[in-house]
Formats: sequence, structure tokens, C-alpha cells
Amino acid sequence: MPSPQDPRALEALQRVFGHAAFRGAQAAIVEHVAAGNDALVLMPTGGGKSLCYQLPALLREGVAIVVSPLIALMQDQVEALRQLGVNAAFLNSTLDAAAAQAIERQLLAGDLDLLYVAPERLLTPRFLSLLERAPLALFAIDEAHCVSQWGHDFRREYRELTILHERWPQVPRIALTATADPPTQREIAERLQLEDARRFVSSFDRANIRYTVVEKENAKRQLLEFLKAHTGEAGIVYCLSRRKVEETAQFLAGHGIDAVPYHAGMDAELRAANQRRFLRAEGVVVVATIAFGMGIDKPDVRFVAHVDLPKSIEGYYQETGRAGRDGEPADAWMCYGLGDLVLLRQMIEQSESGDERKRLEHRKLDALVGYCESMRCRRRVLLANFGEDYVPAEGEGCGNCDNCLQPPQAWDATEAAQKALSCVYRSGQRFGAAHVIDILRGSDSEKVRQFGHDRLSTHGVGTDLDARTWRGVFRQLVAHGLLEVDAEGYGGLRLTAASRAVLKGEQRVLLRRISARRERERSVRGAAPAADLAAADQPLFEALRELRARLAREQNVPAYVIFHDSTLRQIAARRPANEDELAGIGGIGAGKLARYGVAVLETVSGSG
Ligand code: ADP
Ligand code: ZN
Repeated sequence: MPSPQDPRALEALQRVFGHAAFRGAQAAIVEHVAAGNDALVLMPTGGGKSLCYQLPALLREGVAIVVSPLIALMQDQVEALRQLGVNAAFLNSTLDAAAAQAIERQLLAGDLDLLYVAPERLLTPRFLSLLERAPLALFAIDEAHCVSQWGHDFRREYRELTILHERWPQVPRIALTATADPPTQREIAERLQLEDARRFVSSFDRANIRYTVVEKENAKRQLLEFLKAHTGEAGIVYCLSRRKVEETAQFLAGHGIDAVPYHAGMDAELRAANQRRFLRAEGVVVVATIAFGMGIDKPDVRFVAHVDLPKSIEGYYQETGRAGRDGEPADAWMCYGLGDLVLLRQMIEQSESGDERKRLEHRKLDALVGYCESMRCRRRVLLANFGEDYVPAEGEGCGNCDNCLQPPQAWDATEAAQKALSCVYRSGQRFGAAHVIDILRGSDSEKVRQFGHDRLSTHGVGTDLDARTWRGVFRQLVAHGLLEVDAEGYGGLRLTAASRAVLKGEQRVLLRRISARRERERSVRGAAPAADLAAADQPLFEALRELRARLAREQNVPAYVIFHDSTLRQIAARRPANEDELAGIGGIGAGKLARYGVAVLETVSGSG
């Protein structure tokens, strides 16, 4: 029975995967499953879940059956395993009958270490009877949250996977997910009959992701500014609507960025081609609705940008989680304004959902807005939402979110708030922020005159603040519940029960101020792919990237299944002179050494 110290597990980790040591709970999970026990593994994206079943699959007799919901996902995983020299295969609808039969024969002969299958196929009587005759090492249920009806990845067949337990009670099962919220976790345990399985819950903190929220002024320009720090890097830009996706992709392309759109309304072939290009080519930016993401396993996504407000913290965490799977620095950047909030409130109100559902959605949106407006550590707020008590270091904070890096300043906005609320009241509680700000700033626009708002006592009382500051005031008043949006109607602002105390001078209002300096500073922070390499090592890094691109093209696989950037960077810095030295580099196991060792060493020695 292997233990964390067991030379067998560690030896396989180093020899096959080329990793020096286990990460976090991996050692304990591998030991537990390899010894024949059930496990429920909750680990954030990029935490290293695959290894938790792949290694036991190698340590145990027989084949590991891996249930995976998406074809693209299983193909990439299998390709990555084959690159390591592991006998892995998948069975899905992309294979013709002859190819599928060949794999079935390998399965029965015990020639496979891992077999990935879609749940539909797994559940067919034919496949189940094949399994009766195959030597089984374990069952791994990947993306286990698909069993939850409440998540957006619900898959009916996942509910029926309990059959595995019923028919093969002695075969260990391991279910894995990156979904952090406790209700989903409970549902997984229940639905998959894994109540007795040992739970391995990791911290959901993604330390390498830098969280930033900026006030929306001109989203496209701001996005462009942000992207300057990511020239040539792959990333995802999320928009709320299909139209916005198209517009934004065009805008970026017009500015020389390799950007492609992705949304459910597109021609299916074009959409698939865009996804493929994002996965295979380097440095492609995909502009997408939330339809994009499930099964995107690309490890080197360097940023996820939201130019519109997402709908919930869970959604936001999942979408931003697609950045930096490889553990290298990545950005989660969001640009948000009052308009987003108004729009989302209206979408909820005007949807077909029942009242209870609407209330739930409003609450989820509230939580997200609370995150955006918070002056505290973003990680802390984010993780608190998943029941995790993250305590950043005293004085310095997490060191990797905007609020910790440049703590925002609070200002006493009581007087401004009173003017704002009073102006909303006097103008009849039916106009949006833009118009009320016009009144406060003393505008004599046609609309102001048309409604006689130039004669209001609040007309012109707000000339001390600029329009941008006023927008921040209104946004925060709504976020803090001191104003509300008439979401059934045209999105006008009206007072709430809480407004009274402010108007009567019984409550102070502290708001956050974002300095202009802060956004400028951010955008110059460069993060080129090889930023932390010495200048002298850059040419070798580029040569290695070219080698990798050629190898990937020859085999028609994504570049990252051959080597990650971090591996190439280490090679460029350390310049291994022989196979032994090369083997000491992270990510180079025996399989990669045999396949690519000579080519890599030649590239190193050829670069002077
Ligand atoms: P997840 O499925 O949890 O999102 P993966 O299994 O894809 O994560 O692993 C994320 C990345 O971490 C991969 O690039 C993988 O090679 C790397 N990784 C996993 N375990 C280790 C380890 N023990 N040491 C170094 N790198 C690791
Ligand atoms: Zn922080």
C-alpha cells in the first residue's frame, strides 16, 4: 500500500510526470485512492486534480475508467497522457467503429492504464457489459458538479452514475470538482452516493491570479489599455450579449489584436474553428459570452477580462478561474459601472422566472456588487462567499489584488449623498443617474428644461464634483441600498427605506475613491511571456518556442501538451548540457525525455 513517503508514488510522480514533489493534498489523495478507498476531491482549477486519479491509475492493477463530460476535454487529457508515455485512450462519438473496437480490445486485454468515456456511452448496456470483463483499477468522475441541477453544467446522465457503485462496489471511486460552493458539494456527495467517501477540500484561493476591478468609463478603451500589459498573450474577454461580443471582437481586431468572437448564436462551424484556434495557436484572445468556457483546459490563459458585470460571484469565480491554470501569474480584470447593475436588475425582473427565483438572483447580484465595491482584500471577499475564511497578511494584505496593492481611500460623501438623494426625490424618482447628474451639475440640456428641472432647488448644487465622481456616488448609493433601480420599468432611480436616515443627517456615508493614477499605473505593468527571464536567455526561449510549435504542428496537438511555458523558461535559464540535467527540469519525465530530449538539447547547444 503506497503512502506519501512510499517510494512508488513519488517515484512515478517524478519518472512519469516529471514533477519533483506532490502539491497540497495530492499525496494524501493518491495514497487514499491507490489503497482502494473512495474520495471526493474539491480543488480549485489548476490545483492539480488530474494527477489525483492518474497516478493511482498507474499504481493499481487494471484500467481506470474516467468519466468526463466533454469530448474536447478528454481528447486533450488523453493527448497529454500519451505524451508522457502513458497508455491512455478515449471512447466517444468522434471515433469510427473500427477505431472504437480496437480500443475495446485493448480494454479487455488489460493494455490500457486509463480510458476516458462520456457518461452517455458509459451507461449503455453494451459498455457496462464490457466493463464486466475488464480488469478495473478505479472509477474517476471528473467535473462531478455536473450532477447538480442548480449549476449551469447539469448533465442528466451524471445522476445515473451510481450504477458504478452498485455493480462494482469493490472498485474505488474518486469524484472531482472545482466548484466551491458548499450546497453543490453536498449535492455531489448525495447524488453520487459518496457520503462515506473521504472529502479532500483544498483552499479555493488562486494565489497566482491578480484580481482588479475598475470603474467603467469607456469600457472598450479601458480594455485596450489593460491589454497592453498582455501583448501576444492568450486571454478571454467576457461580454454579456452576443452583439457586444461581435462589436468588441471587431474593435480589438481593428487595433491589431488577434481576437475572435464566440457565442451561441454563431454559425457552429465558425464557432468551433474559433475555439480551436484559441486552443492551438498562441496568443489568441477570445471574446465570448458565458457560453464559452466549460472544458477549456488551456493552461496558459494569461487573463480573463469582464467588460460587463457577471451575474454572480460563483460565475465570476468560475470564469476567472480559467486564467493561469499553469500556476504562472495571470490577471482577472473587471470593468463595471452603474449601467451594468441597472441592466442586470432589469434582466432579472423582466425574465420569466418565478418570484422566488428572482429574489435569489437579485441576492446573488447583490453579493457580486458587494465584491466590486469592497475596500477590503478581494480574495477575502471572494473566498468568504464560499465559506472560506481567508486572512491576508497583516499590513500587506494578499499582495495580489488591487485593494491590497493600492488600498483605496474612503471619503466622507454624506453631503454629496444627501444632494443626490434629494435630487432623485425632487425630480420624481423616475430618471436614471445620467439625468439626475445633469440636474446636479446645473446642465441646461433640452431634457432638463423640458421637465422644468432647471427650476428645482437641487439644480446646480453639485458643481463641486465632476460628472465622473458623481457617477461613482450614484453607483455606490445603489450598491449600498441607499437608492434602488426601478427594474420593472425603465430603470429609473428611487429612494429606499434606508435613504431617510441619510437625508435626515442621521447616517454618514463613506464611499471609495479611485484615483486616476491607479489605473494608469496598472496598465504599464508589463508581463510579457518571458518577462522574468534574463535578456541573454530570451533568444533561447524563443528558439524553444519555435521548436515546440513545430512539434505541435507535426503531431497536430496543442503546444501546451508538449511543454508548458514554465518548462521552456527553466530550460532557457539553466541550459542543460545532457539528458540527466534535462531530466531535472520540472515537467520533463521519462516519456518527454525519450521523445524530445535530443531535439531540445540540440536547440540549447545550437543557441551559443
Ligand atoms: P486541474 O484539473 O485541477 O485544473 P490540472 O490537473 O490540469 O489541474 O493541473 C494543473 C497544472 O498543474 C498542470 O499544468 C499540471 O501539470 C500541474 N501540476 C499538477 N500537479 C503538479 C505537481 N505535483 N507539481 C508540479 N506541477 C503540477
Ligand atoms: Zn488582497
